[in-house]
Amino acid sequence: MEHDLSEQFENVRRAFFPRWDKEYRWRIQYVDDLPSEGLCDPTTKTISVNTDKGGDATAILLIHEICHAVAWGHGKAWLARMLKAADVALDRGDLSISDDLRKQVEQYSKTPVTRASEVYGKLEDWVFDRPDVPYERMIEAVARFFAMHPDMFEHRFKRCRRVYEKAKVEAREEKPRE
Ligand SMILES: [Zn+2]
Repeated sequence: MEHDLSEQFENVRRAFFPRWDKEYRWRIQYVDDLPSEGLCDPTTKTISVNTDKGGDATAILLIHEICHAVAWGHGKAWLARMLKAADVALDRGDLSISDDLRKQVEQYSKTPVTRASEVYGKLEDWVFDRPDVPYERMIEAVARFFAMHPDMFEHRFKRCRRVYEKAKVEAREEKPRE
């Protein structure tokens, strides 16, 4: 079904994101054991989905993930892009797609966005507990905890390095060497 999925990806991007990725660097792949329905990885420019059934459900999933290619997380930029897609769906007469996208926007705009203080607090706690874990590995772990890609994570939370170094110094001062 790989072929059909590629074809649907093609159709969705043509209809809903005509100005996005003009150089065709993004690709779609079907992954059977994905931890979620869909995943958008900006570093490899890959969108992964765990369904190849086609139809509206897959179109909606593809739209959701392509919106992540242009906007990290489920914040304002992503919500705005989803709404735009909902309008396009309405114009095309794809009413169930339009409805579903609007419902998602409604739901996600009620969900609180991850706050920076929360992120740095978590990073601090973990470094304090395990000051010997190298920076890159620690960022990977915290990013995973907040369901973010490590690269996007550091881009979004620019104080990571400082918070890490400070917590490390503090942890070492507190804990006597054995
Ligand atoms: Zn999402």
